[in-house]
Amino acid sequence: ASPTERLDDTVGAGVRSGDESQAGTSGPKPTTACRPSRLSRARECDNPPLTGRPGGRREAMAKILLVEDNDMNRDMLSRRLQRKGHEVLMAADGMQCLLMAESETPDLILLDMSLPVIDGWEAARRLKDSPTTAAVPIVALTAHAMAGDREKALAAGCDDYDTKPVDFPQLLAKIDALLARRG
Ligand code: MN
Repeated sequence: ASPTERLDDTVGAGVRSGDESQAGTSGPKPTTACRPSRLSRARECDNPPLTGRPGGRREAMAKILLVEDNDMNRDMLSRRLQRKGHEVLMAADGMQCLLMAESETPDLILLDMSLPVIDGWEAARRLKDSPTTAAVPIVALTAHAMAGDREKALAAGCDDYDTKPVDFPQLLAKIDALLARRG
């Protein structure tokens, strides 16, 4: 078989439906062929296998409930936490947060304070009032370093506090410290 015939066989109807004279001279078009595989490879990197870290010195993988109503922030944070080996559950409002915290008993809750339905302040108070979730550490996230937000978050029952946009290494250090405290 000629190279052209083999190309037609493997690539299929998509190529044949195009301009035949051009297909004969320009050969395979790597850009279109590679795009899907490049995406799936990126996705694999974002979700590495969670097992087999022999001799790892990191904290053991934790189940983290990420509560954030902003899709972009939630996607970004969840990917970065997963890359660190954590299992990430997600909620987009305060009510979802309470329901998932009760049913999933996460190891830690990352809680945006500005949320629809029930805001983070109220969600934190309810989490600490419930016997099921009272012991789960909460890291509060607020959009701006408002004076008094830290004290307000601790008063609502949160165990630590950070501001957005998130400084990820700093946030991760706070998460690891709280997970280590649980033992
Ligand atoms: Mn928010």
